[in-house]
Amino acid sequence: MTKIAFQSAADSDSRENLEKTLLNPVVLSELESIRGTGIAEELANIYPGDMARVGAVKQGKEGEQKAEWEKLQRGDVVLFMRDDMVFLSGIVTYLVKNPDLARELWGDDERGHTPECVYFVDEVKDQFIPCSTINRMMGLEETYPWPGFQVHLEDVSAPVVYGYQLESHVYFPIVSEDEYKEIVQEIDRTRPLDTKGWSRLRKEDGFLRDQLFRGKVVEECGICGNKYPTQFLIAAHIKDRWHCTTEDRLDYQNIAMPICKLGCEELYRRNYVTVIDERVAVTKARVDSKDLKSILVRLQGRVCPWFKGSRKYFDWHTRLGKYF
Ligand SMILES: [Zn+2]
Repeated sequence: MTKIAFQSAADSDSRENLEKTLLNPVVLSELESIRGTGIAEELANIYPGDMARVGAVKQGKEGEQKAEWEKLQRGDVVLFMRDDMVFLSGIVTYLVKNPDLARELWGDDERGHTPECVYFVDEVKDQFIPCSTINRMMGLEETYPWPGFQVHLEDVSAPVVYGYQLESHVYFPIVSEDEYKEIVQEIDRTRPLDTKGWSRLRKEDGFLRDQLFRGKVVEECGICGNKYPTQFLIAAHIKDRWHCTTEDRLDYQNIAMPICKLGCEELYRRNYVTVIDERVAVTKARVDSKDLKSILVRLQGRVCPWFKGSRKYFDWHTRLGKYF
């Protein structure tokens, strides 16, 4: 599940660093310290536009901040604070310990120490939330002073993450196959979701997403067939997730497919389209919009490359709409 990191820009050095690499994105291909390395390659997959925003864990007592940085995971939320207000939020996409990169980005600190802990963020959004409100929601003293950089664990962070809908639907924690197998057996469809329940679903989503998109810059939408950057695609359960049995979930190679957020997700969830015998089928119900009709006509009959192995899940979905 999602943790929250406080990043304070209280002093002029941290403000300067934030200005340099967070408010103004850096051009990845211009970073000499990582050129030609695996790091550059991985970042190019995450940021196909070549521009990335980077957070600095640098000022203050390096040892303490490093320990905080080590708690971070992909998908965690960073709240950026100045003047007692959270003014930005971002999602952690990539973490790397690399003194050369840190030095290139921000230089040595005022004590001549070389920083090394770097985190990249995406989905940066403007916020306007008093720190006292965040503190209260997280069970801290209202006047709790934010240190340079501090990570708060899942349970404490949950009210803020869900209250302000800060979770990413693209970046998830990294989940191993063993952990996935374990958590899907603990998903209980008969009980209301508590924090642990949410956490399991998030891990489930993260694992499925990695299965479909790991290492890929673009992938094909299972419905329209267009190839999009993976940020425009979701790893969708073919059979509605709330109807999936544990056995369905363990069949992770077949239970999900990529669907684009540029229309197909909505069409599939609202039962305007499905896949029958490997081909996209569209609803036979009345469609009042001429524009929507023309989209459906274009989709009709496309071959879905994710059909093989997933027939029974598509069959389940097909029953929800009027396709015959
Ligand atoms: Zn699509």
